[in-house]
Amino acid sequence: MREMTSMEPDLREVMIPSADIQAKVRELGEAVTRDYAGERPLLVGILRGGVVFLSDLMRAVDLPCEIDFMDISSYGAGTSSSGVVRILKDLEEDITGRHVLIVEDIVDTGLTLSYLNRALLARKPASLEICALLTKPSRRKVPIEVKYLGFEVPDEFVVGYGLDYAGAYRNLPDIGVLKPEVFGGAEE
Ligand code: 5GP
Ligand code: MG
Ligand code: MG
Repeated sequence: MREMTSMEPDLREVMIPSADIQAKVRELGEAVTRDYAGERPLLVGILRGGVVFLSDLMRAVDLPCEIDFMDISSYGAGTSSSGVVRILKDLEEDITGRHVLIVEDIVDTGLTLSYLNRALLARKPASLEICALLTKPSRRKVPIEVKYLGFEVPDEFVVGYGLDYAGAYRNLPDIGVLKPEVFGGAEE
């Protein structure tokens, strides 16, 4: 059963209801807990879309983990990734010798994470893995190994659970697709 929200009338479709997201986050948290047993992983949330996922995921990880954040943006106009990425906010922590887990909302072309992977590997972490709530495999331009994955979604622009359209809908508990009249079709 799902709660109604005032944003729900803007959706054409609820793709992943909140209860399914929460169940998946618990599963991912258990996997991370198993794999990093005895370690103190650093979960790196990618601003801003990864924030909701990170905040739920970290509470599903039964380990003494730490968190940090990065904000990155693609160069150029539009929201399509160019592959050239700018670090707007870097980590506070030195990740040399740390077990680092990147926590991202969605892998689309893969260009952002591919750049981020290279940038962080250069800092010599003990390990570096990716946890993404969503992936759109049909959109991939570069291969990306996502060790912890929530859901595969079709090539549609989704909002909710951290993902925005023009800054809004991040606080929607479900993941859904906007109605065309709400969604200007300005991105991608
Ligand atoms: P990539 O470099 O993989 O193409 O870009 C990934 C980023 O694009 C995501 O972190 C997210 O910010 C944005 N993005 C990709 N697909 C969607 C989508 O369906 N909805 C929203 N709101 N953002 C998306
Ligand atoms: Mg993002
Ligand atoms: Mg966005």
